[in-house]
Amino acid sequence: MEQALTLRCRECGREFEPLALHVCDFCFGPLEVAYDYEAIARRVSRASIEAGPTSIWRYRDLLPVADEHPVDLGAGFTPLVRADRLGAHLGLRDLWIKNDTLNPTGSFKDRVVSVALTKARQLGFKVAACASTGNLASSVAAHAAKAGMESVVLVPSNLESAKVMMASVYGGTVVAVEGSYDDVNRLCAELTSEHPSWAFVNVNVRSYYAEGSKTLAFEVAEQLGWTAPDHVVVPIASGSQLTKIHKGFRELGLVGLVDGTDRVRISGAQALGCSPVATAFAEGTDIVRPVKPDTIAKSLAIGNPADGYYALKVIAETGGGCAAVADDEILEGIALLARTEGIFAETAGGVTIASLARLVADGTIRPDERVVAMVTGHGLKTIEAMGGVAGPSATIAATLDAFDAAIQVEGDLIATAPREHS
Ligand SMILES: *Cc1c(COP(=O)(O)O)cnc(C)c1O
Ligand SMILES: [Zn+2]
Repeated sequence: MEQALTLRCRECGREFEPLALHVCDFCFGPLEVAYDYEAIARRVSRASIEAGPTSIWRYRDLLPVADEHPVDLGAGFTPLVRADRLGAHLGLRDLWIKNDTLNPTGSFKDRVVSVALTKARQLGFKVAACASTGNLASSVAAHAAKAGMESVVLVPSNLESAKVMMASVYGGTVVAVEGSYDDVNRLCAELTSEHPSWAFVNVNVRSYYAEGSKTLAFEVAEQLGWTAPDHVVVPIASGSQLTKIHKGFRELGLVGLVDGTDRVRISGAQALGCSPVATAFAEGTDIVRPVKPDTIAKSLAIGNPADGYYALKVIAETGGGCAAVADDEILEGIALLARTEGIFAETAGGVTIASLARLVADGTIRPDERVVAMVTGHGLKTIEAMGGVAGPSATIAATLDAFDAAIQVEGDLIATAPREHS
């Protein structure tokens, strides 16, 4: 059944038809999808969701397109794992990791792109395009392939090679732009007026795209037995994911599926080299001043975040915090998560884990809270960031003597394994 939904301006509240629009004609405010929650509450139940597919599409009643055959590579319903060893290390008694590294193209972007391209196809678009810090490009190219659409993805030319290669292998037209993401995004906005027949997932269909992030909140609550966590830690690039996780929890309450969702505290995680939201939070202002990014966390390197203001508001309203962590802390965060929980995250995941550690240390997160950390991208995507901190412990001749000389063993345990990487 087709949903009754509209686009509503976040600033003046005016409503628009659900077409490829993203800003309000009257006040230039961003448009957001608005639903009839009473009608949804009558239609949806825990059982109806549990009977659905093991992907984001089990929540289709709360998504902006009710296509029976969505553009779907299987995004979502990723593991929520109890992280006792990492929790013990950080001084947390009830820590969980949402392992979104395990999406089809290795990042949380598959959630938003699956929704965006399903809507774009419904609106008749034949070409999908985007400006990307990397993960969006791979995801758009892959989903476009599945949908039989063409794709054009624009990325900063200093991007990690895995992300460029992935987007290209999926058949995307990959355009590397000399400049930062913010330059790429500006060019993309100009291209949107130039090519109105293309669906730019982060421009003219952004309102739909953004809705896909709500599924992180839906899944977390369902995977916790239809209960709300106390606190979630979310990485911030444009700030869209953070604001939509908030919207997702609120909706679960509005349609009567989960109690206590209005008490979930939401904290942000940024890299120090690109921390406009964390800086505004620390200064107690609601003005997010653009910065020039310089960090190994390239997937989060948006200096002028489109939803920064709204992310800041959510953090303040829910009683969360916002951390900014240095590149060496990011690498430590990646190693810590990998060595305690067996999950290899990209640099954005390192930002989340290092921020989690900061927020525990400064008292923002309390030791007894049920905390969920969003780990949003796979480590193989940013392998070059690990050069110098990971690699073989030794390179030896194929003899026992050489092994014994290189690796010291006491009893059955490895006593010292000197590292020769870098
Ligand atoms: C894009 C991205 C995010 C968050 O992006 P928002 O623009 O804030 O929604 C987080 N993690 C990874 C790995 C990403 O690629
Ligand atoms: Zn408006």
